Amino acid sequence: MSDFYDILGVSKSANANEIKRAYRKIAMKYHPDRNPDNKEAEKKFKEAAEAYSVLSDEGKRRQYDQFGHSAFNGMGGQSGFNSMNMDDIFSQFGDIFGGNNPFESFFGGGRSSSRPRAGADLKVKIVVSYKDIVNGGEKKLKIKRMKRAEGLTLATCPMCGGSGQVTKVTNSFLGQMRSTSICPQCKGYGKVVDKIPAGANKDGMKSVEETIKIKIPTGVEDGNYMTLDSQGNEDINGQAGDLYVFFEEESHEFFSRYGNDVLLQVVLGYSQAVFGDKIDIPTINGTAKLKIPSGIQPGQILRVKGKGFPLIGKSRRGDQLVKIQIDVPSKLNREEKKSTEDLLRIQKGKEIKFQRFED
Ligand SMILES: [Zn+2]
Repeated sequence: MSDFYDILGVSKSANANEIKRAYRKIAMKYHPDRNPDNKEAEKKFKEAAEAYSVLSDEGKRRQYDQFGHSAFNGMGGQSGFNSMNMDDIFSQFGDIFGGNNPFESFFGGGRSSSRPRAGADLKVKIVVSYKDIVNGGEKKLKIKRMKRAEGLTLATCPMCGGSGQVTKVTNSFLGQMRSTSICPQCKGYGKVVDKIPAGANKDGMKSVEETIKIKIPTGVEDGNYMTLDSQGNEDINGQAGDLYVFFEEESHEFFSRYGNDVLLQVVLGYSQAVFGDKIDIPTINGTAKLKIPSGIQPGQILRVKGKGFPLIGKSRRGDQLVKIQIDVPSKLNREEKKSTEDLLRIQKGKEIKFQRFED
């Protein structure tokens, strides 16, 4: 993939306005309504949107400047991780074209081309544990998709005669008005279902259950997704839409996630906090030693380096942050009771400290 700055034709020091202007220019030029069925233009249009999605976001831009594409592209290959589809582009950056989309007025209605592209896209989710996120690996996923039934035959659409479009002529005092729209009977295919094989629905489709293997990118986060080209539903021509696999993090009994760091709370005994200790703590894929300094306070946070989540596409890992709490027992055994009473006697009359209420 080319450099995002090169794609938009701006310098590395370009400001937000220059980036927006550059993107708008390219998006207009390669807009799908202006370049129907032009794969090259569609590619350029998507590339520009991808570049803009990163460079227009201050945080993402900083990450990109630092790590390059690998900051966003953990999957490699072309069905890229986080790669965008047309709907994303329009839903996210539609406003770039101005309050109302100029193409609607220039080209008469919507961006949908008059020919259907393929069957519907599918969205599925895959639940990954923290362990999966650290170790990567493969997971099997069962999906249900609609496929063109075997033996299905098509006939030319009687309504549009195969053109996929219908032209309506209305007479007015200004003369004849013609308007063209997608054929409602064949939805633009130009063909309709003729012979439906047994077991297929009225659209000539069959629901099929398939098992696919998903490679889990290490460091993947809740809400990240992967696009699998042509693994969605098929249309009557056998052309499939895409499959979007959304990652969902499984919540953990005591770990939680903050960016690439793992958070854990440890509850220490009073004496441990006073004298310090060396303890074993769980990590997301094993255990680690943690040195508790003497006199540690509740709420204090200790950092265990390199025990967090991997950065996408990197071997570097975040840290584990350990928040300290102190256990105040409500039940004591005889021995504990005795020494605590001793302590009470010693500390009796000790001055009480007052502090500002802070969270
Ligand atoms: Zn038709």
